[in-house]
Amino acid sequence: MRAAYQHCFNSMAIDEYFGEVHGPLPYRSIRFHHRLVPRGVAGLAATVNFTDDQPFTRETDWSLLPGHILRPGPEKILTLEEPCDNRDNNHERYYPVKSTDGAEQVLLEKYKAMAALLPDMTFIGRCGTYMYLDMHQVINQSLAGVREWLLSRQAA
Ligand SMILES: Cc1cc2nc3c(=O)[nH]c(=O)nc-3n(C[C@H](O)[C@H](O)[C@H](O)COP(=O)(O)OP(=O)(O)OC[C@H]3O[C@@H](n4cnc5c(N)ncnc54)[C@H](O)[C@@H]3O)c2cc1C
Repeated sequence: MRAAYQHCFNSMAIDEYFGEVHGPLPYRSIRFHHRLVPRGVAGLAATVNFTDDQPFTRETDWSLLPGHILRPGPEKILTLEEPCDNRDNNHERYYPVKSTDGAEQVLLEKYKAMAALLPDMTFIGRCGTYMYLDMHQVINQSLAGVREWLLSRQAA
């Protein structure tokens, strides 16, 4: 499809785009475990964060979230979150890993150097730039990238 467009703003994982030639960038992922419980079981709060050493980090009681459309019937859904490596979760890339030795940053710089050789492509977003970004930050980063590209075309 690239040939049909002037420029591609690419939100896929940057290492995946380059076939992981320098090795995969690591990501933390989450396995979600959903279970049905009787609606009468009282939840403590909409979300409970666990700080002990059990495998689960968080539980959400969806029925306590304001404005949530309730499931019909006598049961409600609780969801437990279990952190894991993305390779153990069908390559679902959630959180870029930042270790103290900076190994991931070294790897990322190699992929960024390859990306810099592609004049018709800009990597954006959480997996394209390998940064943990919330939604408003991704929108801001993407709009800024487009603005920069438009200005570079005006200047040319
Ligand atoms: C568990 C979890 C909870 C979060 N909670 C919050 C929150 O409460 N508030 C908040 O602001 N942010 C939250 N975030 C972060 C939020 O999800 C991200 O900021 C946002 O989704 C990033 O947008 P993105 O466009 O970079 O990536 P994505 O939303 O992942 O979009 C990338 C898109 O590219 C597509 N794609 C990938 N590869 C290819 C390919 N080869 N070809 C075609 N398409 C491809 C994908 O299918 C996807 O649609 C959370 C993230 C996670 C993982």
